[in-house]
Amino acid sequence: MHQIDCPWCGVRDEAEFKYRGDATVTRPAAGAGADAFHDYVHTRANPKGWHAEWWHHTGGCRQLVKVLRNTLTHEIRQTARAAEPLAAPSPETTPT
Ligand SMILES: [Zn+2]
Repeated sequence: MHQIDCPWCGVRDEAEFKYRGDATVTRPAAGAGADAFHDYVHTRANPKGWHAEWWHHTGGCRQLVKVLRNTLTHEIRQTARAAEPLAAPSPETTPT
């Protein structure tokens, strides 16, 4: 079971959160076209290693939390508020 450090509430159990997807995806411009919006909604990289994700603290403050999590080990290295940047994982700790 994960322990997620919510920036507003502190460390809480994963059961209080819902996974909300890839935090690296950005919405295309309004006139970008159907293919760009299709990729935005449906296409995901499914990375192996460190990944920035959105988690919603549904059982607490109801804020979105940005989480840097390793998809292989499930280690959580960092959390941040939605507008804050996450530190990029160092390449030597990223599995290949
Ligand atoms: Zn919270």
